Amino acid sequence: MSQPERYEILVLGSGAGGKLLAWHMARSGRKTTVVERRYIGGSCPNINCLPSKNEIWSAKVAHLVHHAAQFGTVTGPVAINMATVRQRKRDMVDRLIAAHLDNYKTSGAELIMGAGRFVAPKTLEVRLNDGGMRVLVGDQVFLNVGTHAAIPSVPGLEAARPLTNIEALELDYLPPHLIVLGGGYVGLEFAQAYRRFGSRVTVIQHGPQLMDREDPDVANEVQRILSDEGIQVLVGAETLHVHGRSGKEVSLLVRTTSGEQTIEGTDILVAAGRIPNTTGIGLEEAGVELDSRGYIRVNERLETSASEVWALGECAGSPQFTHVSEHDFRIVRDNLAGGQRSTRDRLVPFCMFIDPPLARVGLSEGEAQRQGVTVRVARLPTSAVLRTQTTDEQQGFMKALVGGSDDRILGFTMIGAEAGEVMAAVQTAMLADLPYPRLRDVILTHPTMAEGLGSLFSNVPPRAVQ
Ligand SMILES: Cc1cc2nc3c(=O)[nH]c(=O)nc-3n(C[C@H](O)[C@H](O)[C@H](O)COP(=O)(O)OP(=O)(O)OC[C@H]3O[C@@H](n4cnc5c(N)ncnc54)[C@H](O)[C@@H]3O)c2cc1C
Repeated sequence: MSQPERYEILVLGSGAGGKLLAWHMARSGRKTTVVERRYIGGSCPNINCLPSKNEIWSAKVAHLVHHAAQFGTVTGPVAINMATVRQRKRDMVDRLIAAHLDNYKTSGAELIMGAGRFVAPKTLEVRLNDGGMRVLVGDQVFLNVGTHAAIPSVPGLEAARPLTNIEALELDYLPPHLIVLGGGYVGLEFAQAYRRFGSRVTVIQHGPQLMDREDPDVANEVQRILSDEGIQVLVGAETLHVHGRSGKEVSLLVRTTSGEQTIEGTDILVAAGRIPNTTGIGLEEAGVELDSRGYIRVNERLETSASEVWALGECAGSPQFTHVSEHDFRIVRDNLAGGQRSTRDRLVPFCMFIDPPLARVGLSEGEAQRQGVTVRVARLPTSAVLRTQTTDEQQGFMKALVGGSDDRILGFTMIGAEAGEVMAAVQTAMLADLPYPRLRDVILTHPTMAEGLGSLFSNVPPRAVQ
């Protein structure tokens, strides 16, 4: 075994939380190293959020060009060049990696490219990508190893070599017929993007509706928007068998309430959940316990079962968003400086970047019901927001949940243009505990999408008479 090298701060996995922690600790003068096997900066800039939103933007341009005549712009024949779409994405990733490397350099945190595995408490053996081994011991250890795409155990699926988000973002050709397994946000974002590039697209969702954590009215509107663009959506559909090879020809036997049917396609994309990267990395040697789903067991301060070992981001079972992994970093950082921050009662916003986007913060109606919280519900069709008269982006609606017996804002959902940005205004009001009439009566700029909040909150029903 190589001679162990001692660090004050040892980070395994350079995801959102891990890299921020490393840069912070190194800038504070602590001897810090980060072990990363492949993606400098983690999944978000390389294979997940930013590359997918980059290609989704290319798809939006394609969509606008196809509908340009509606706005008075006359175009000639339109073609999509997927190699250029991919290159634009790759160029962005290269810029992001360069920015990350600069942060490592200026912060003084060392970045070791290799696969880490614990061989003893707080002791990591690293198989270096360039060959050789190093053994690192950390006074304090931080785990930020993320997750990977789950491949459901459907006969024939693995042998069909399906795409995951990683391969889908590297395609330089347009699949003639893309079949997407999974009706959550990853699957739907890709489904719409590829449809807009010109693929025929079928979405197969196992559950009874798309976006199974959202209210049925939200899921129905999303399904309507996607269907209007020509995407075939099957819900309550069980895939029984897959034949063929993705990239060539595939055929899926699918069972729905109306019987069994065979769907013939050319490519399959699997977007059916995530699996934590916690197996085979010696966590048992490190004294780090997992929960029943394989996520690292942490308390609300993100401390693991091992002393002086923390876990951040998706591997710790935190909600699966970059902004949450970053928030995990802020909790750990502040607690190490003597704070008392916790993951409890976090207000976690969420945005699905289909077009128009879906955004939610706080409770859905279903969650309120399950938690026994009485709410008043206000709705506003997006078409009632004057901004949409100018843009023709009239699909969707806003929905606000307000306390049944007080004026607190408990939840906000929007499907519509700029939904993520409008949500941030409501989130700020929620964090400030502003009663909803403050948003109803505030002066909002005309004509913006946020202006609709005034009308939305005017629609809050009166409190029930006790
Ligand atoms: C297609 C897609 C789109 C998404 N879009 C969004 C979005 O728009 N907005 C959003 O907020 N979230 C989005 N997400 C989720 C988001 O990408 C993650 O929640 C976010 O990247 C945080 O991840 P993390 O910090 O937990 O770990 P990651 O960023 O996944 O980092 C973990 C790192 O650990 C490394 N690693 C793992 N094991 C080892 C080992 N043994 N040795 C060395 N290194 C190791 C991995 O290579 C990886 O780089 C998306 C996810 C997907 C799949």
